[in-house]
Amino acid sequence: MITRLFCPSAFASSLSGIDLDDLRARGIDFLILDLDNTLAEWQRYEIPDATAAWVKSAQDRGMKLCIASNTRNSRRLESIAGRLGVYSICRALKPRMRGFALAMELMGAVRARTAVIGDQILTDIFGGNRAGLYTILVPPMHPREFIGTKLSRIVERLLLFWFRRKGLMGTKPKPPQSERKERA
Ligand SMILES: [Mg+2]
Repeated sequence: MITRLFCPSAFASSLSGIDLDDLRARGIDFLILDLDNTLAEWQRYEIPDATAAWVKSAQDRGMKLCIASNTRNSRRLESIAGRLGVYSICRALKPRMRGFALAMELMGAVRARTAVIGDQILTDIFGGNRAGLYTILVPPMHPREFIGTKLSRIVERLLLFWFRRKGLMGTKPKPPQSERKERA
């Protein structure tokens, strides 16, 4: 079903709430991260302590990280990526698949070992799912955002309502594709 492409593989309560050991147990060690409202507040240069700590603990586990952002502000993106010590892709044009492919290329990643983490269903999750990647939805850090994003939140709310009705909203990651097919 088409809505499946909009449904994240997993839901997290926050970025810090993402269990890195669980991801590693799934064989994931490459992370493609959204910037705005996932790692930092929209248009802000400051990196929250919780973000810095979580990124550090991923790096301590030997994971590789790349920010893929639709922002056009390369100065801000590079400043944040530089301080975090991660790769970055500016103007990623999510949900198009190109940005995800570039991020994987930069990290030397393969699809089966890569996860996408972001706060927007229509860009991060839809794009990540289309690229065949494991996707994790986090709630936006702050209500302040781009007007276009505010509009897409309306569609997102409808999708979340639908997922909840279908029982797809558990915080537990869904089983691998093959298992799901057997159950259907
Ligand atoms: Mg975002």
